[in-house]
Amino acid sequence: MADVTPFWLAGERARGSSTFEVRHPYDGAVVATVAEPEADQVERAVAAAVEVAPRLSGLPAHVRASALAHVSKEIARRGDELARLITAESGKPLTWARAEVARASSTFRWGAEEARRFAGELTRLDTDPTGDGRLALTRRFPRGPVLGITPFNFPLNLVAHKVAPALAIGAPIIVKPAPRTPLSALFLGDLLAGTDLPEGSWSVLTVPNDRVGGLVADPRLPVVSFTGSGPVGWSIRDAVPRKHVVLELGGNGAVLVAPDFHAPGDLARAAGRIALFANYQAGQSCIAVQRVYADHGLYGELLGEIVTAVRALRDGDPTDPATDVGPLVDVAAAERVEQWIGEAVAAGATLVCGGTRTGASLAPTVLTGVPDAARVVREEVFGPVIVVESVDGLDEGLARINDSAFGLQAGVFTHDLGTAFRAHRELVVGGVVVGDVPSYRADQMPYGGTKGSGIGREGVRSAMTDLSEERVLVLTGL
Ligand code: NAD
Repeated sequence: MADVTPFWLAGERARGSSTFEVRHPYDGAVVATVAEPEADQVERAVAAAVEVAPRLSGLPAHVRASALAHVSKEIARRGDELARLITAESGKPLTWARAEVARASSTFRWGAEEARRFAGELTRLDTDPTGDGRLALTRRFPRGPVLGITPFNFPLNLVAHKVAPALAIGAPIIVKPAPRTPLSALFLGDLLAGTDLPEGSWSVLTVPNDRVGGLVADPRLPVVSFTGSGPVGWSIRDAVPRKHVVLELGGNGAVLVAPDFHAPGDLARAAGRIALFANYQAGQSCIAVQRVYADHGLYGELLGEIVTAVRALRDGDPTDPATDVGPLVDVAAAERVEQWIGEAVAAGATLVCGGTRTGASLAPTVLTGVPDAARVVREEVFGPVIVVESVDGLDEGLARINDSAFGLQAGVFTHDLGTAFRAHRELVVGGVVVGDVPSYRADQMPYGGTKGSGIGREGVRSAMTDLSEERVLVLTGL
């Protein structure tokens, strides 16, 4: 069992009697064999989280902040190891894996800062006679131990988005990482183990999918923070309607290129951003570009620029630093996207470039004239595919973006302040990025979706708010 990667039970390495393999998506090689927890080990992790909860929440802010700052520094110090691990388990090109490591380090640093800032507010009660001599003090306290369930596509950073805010407010957390990519989360355990947070504050449990339901239903874990696909997310919400459930789900990210966006170099720049952020991580990002709506006066030139930019991307071995586009997470995922492209073409779409598959790798693909009912438009494609369409002005562009079951983020290329404010007001999404693609996310801003893209917000401060609840203290006789 020496080369079995252990999981983390209440801050200690542990093994059960079963294991599973993690394979490299590019060549299928076994990257690691990982231990799976037994039912009694899961029970011990939950019991430890429950027991430590009041103590963790009562720790001085500077102690929690120091622990998070330590993890931030360690992530940066061991960044190269971590980036290689992310690439090995997810197939993400090394360049993007390094970017993910930098983001995770900043998430923990930001968590450390917010842990110091997160306070409360005073409310005057003497605004009418019933409140004479009274004052209310409102503070937020953890709702209780958090179950954090994460997907494969950012195996480190999406775990950081749950762990840093939870520990920043003093809530214990049990992480259940994606079975295809548990190694970065388990490595994070090594770094958390170097802090002096009390035992039970965190666990990383590699529970298989058919046993996660027990953890989700456990009444001792009142908060489930889930990032992943819609069907699984909404089924969790339906299974535990009385729990506080945060859902960060999928999207079909849209871009509008507004009629005014035609200064010299504008379209080439927009096309470069669109091509890159439709294909980064082989399109496996919830805020990847999927749909592009360009004003009809700009459409032809923009399409040409997008195709040029897409053709300039290098696909191949993700460990090669020159690679822009690596494989999808597995062959089945690539086959699904290939099938959706085929369906769109059969329904009348034009395949401008790409569409070919080799194993888990799919060539970056551009489609136009796609019927709105096609899955590459309606669903989350989660692959390197861009649908580019011509629209008649802002009204149609904004309406087409909103004509979606999802609402995560949207990008609007415009120089006009009025258009920017109108897009912000009218687009039913969690965030509008003006002058760029929807794929921008920073941990100091709220992040999350409307409609089928989820409920609740992340971003360190927003997540701290979401994982905690207000408690008021009324002082009398003042
Ligand atoms: P997934 O839904 O298949 O898995 C996500 C997690 O849920 C994994 O840990 C998995 O083991 C677990 N899980 C599976 N079945 C479960 C069950 N019955 N009960 C509880 N947990 C269960 O998603 P995935 O394929 O790993 O990730 C891709 C999806 O994640 C995409 O839809 C993507 O858009 C979404 N995503 C969203 C965000 C966001 O912030 N909004 C970020 C990244 C990814």
